[in-house]
Amino acid sequence: MNAARTRKDWQQLADSLSLRTRAFIGGRYVDAVSGATFDCISPIDGRVLGQVADGGRVDIDHAVAAARRSFEAGHWSQARPVQRKKTLLKLAQLVEQHADELAVLESLDMGKPVRDARNVDIAAVIRCLGWTAEALDKVYGEVAPTGMDELGLVTREPLGVVGAIVPWNFPLLMATWKLAPALAMGNSVVLKPSEKSPLSALRFAELVAEAGIPEGVFNVVPGNGVGAGEPLALHMDVDGLVFTGSTAVGKRLLQCAGLSNMKRAYMECGGKSPNIVFADAPDLDVAAEAAAGAIFYNQGEVCTAGSRLLVERPVRDEFVSRVIAHGRKMQPAHPFEEGAAMGAMVDEAQTARVLDYIAKGNEEGGRLLLGGKRAAVVEGGCYVEPTVFDEVEHGDTIAREEIFGPVLSVIAFDTEAQALHMANDSPYGLAAGVWTRDISRAHRVARRLRAGSVWVNCWDGGDMTAPFGGYKQSGNGRDKSLHAFDKYTEIKATWINLDA
Ligand code: NAD
Repeated sequence: MNAARTRKDWQQLADSLSLRTRAFIGGRYVDAVSGATFDCISPIDGRVLGQVADGGRVDIDHAVAAARRSFEAGHWSQARPVQRKKTLLKLAQLVEQHADELAVLESLDMGKPVRDARNVDIAAVIRCLGWTAEALDKVYGEVAPTGMDELGLVTREPLGVVGAIVPWNFPLLMATWKLAPALAMGNSVVLKPSEKSPLSALRFAELVAEAGIPEGVFNVVPGNGVGAGEPLALHMDVDGLVFTGSTAVGKRLLQCAGLSNMKRAYMECGGKSPNIVFADAPDLDVAAEAAAGAIFYNQGEVCTAGSRLLVERPVRDEFVSRVIAHGRKMQPAHPFEEGAAMGAMVDEAQTARVLDYIAKGNEEGGRLLLGGKRAAVVEGGCYVEPTVFDEVEHGDTIAREEIFGPVLSVIAFDTEAQALHMANDSPYGLAAGVWTRDISRAHRVARRLRAGSVWVNCWDGGDMTAPFGGYKQSGNGRDKSLHAFDKYTEIKATWINLDA
């Protein structure tokens, strides 16, 4: 890592890059068959970074065919696990060598502070590849308890061709949470990155080839959801479909799986995570700083954003003023700026969506205590101030719908039961936080929260050893940890008659 880079250094690196803008199919970069492209626009300043191949049905067909051929050829799918492990470790090393470049691509493409892209996103990509590689040759099958005249083997086998559709908020990291365990288990992959952030995945494809993963095993088709995503989801020769993105699209993809070949389908979707602060939180200021980070980090474009802050009434005023003091320090800045706490929103559409929700918050009677406006950071760029509404009612729109921006709703509560009711009364169930010094209450509340991740006296804790995924309409699978392998394997029972 080059921690000492200045804004000028990052800009020079950005200016020196030659972008990969074509699809990566069967081991080479190719144009979309139609020749179509779309503009890749940086939200930092509205500049067009390049024209990216706009993949469609035919390109998806080619990529799936390449993936199928590679799977059947067996050079990867039937390789010894230890060989796959070595290759994925090499890939992790290559990502590390190119970390600054990949970080700049993320920042240019979707606006996050480059320091976060480097130290959080790309660092986590490297850890995910390394951890998964190290784990893959420790996955054992089973021998069934049988009589002496038979042998029952339970083995895990790759699905075949996996289609992965991912969002733009952590572009390469969300892709890696899918592709690392998929490749580890011997699958071939067709990745469709978000049309809002295709650049890092396209550059990464080259590193995959350099690491020695055989051609056709990993393919990237950029394009939009309906044009490229749906053909992948509906494809009759795709065996598994994994997705991270909005709940609405996740539901549509489950339909696509059912309408086509009943491919295995795992969705990681949206959230409206409650962060519950009891009056006996161990340190109110630590909790307040975490609460501000929980909603303003990555411009609030985080599936687990702590967008609902439930505070016990006796400490509400003090706590909210501390959150505001921390939030005020997190103003958006140019993403290459050394101390930038927030960068640009991903694009104009997302900026408009967030501003609409802020208007709704005002209309419905929330008390605006911080921010609430577009910020003029760089001409042509998409920036929104950190925003806090107090006195929000549990039923208000901004307390119920996923905004996916830096907008916090504060809701007061009087009893534990009331806090739990409000926390769980949501179609989502991705994550939740509990702050209390009372260990019995911490356990009790954590057990009753209907969420895939519960953080006690912290926010966003966890590493590769912990599974990540949602309850309810936040999803139906788990990324990370050994549980991730479940999505990419079939379980086969082989029964052998020894008496024949
Ligand atoms: P999105 O659902 O709009 O798009 C996600 C991906 O799906 C993109 O690649 C897009 O092109 C594709 N897509 C869109 N419509 C499609 C269709 N009809 N068929 C096939 N593919 C289609 O989501 P987004 O705006 O990119 O990301 C934000 C959402 O992602 C938020 O809801 C956020 O909570 C969620 N998210 C969830 C997690 C998680 O792990 N649970 C992590 C990050 C983001």
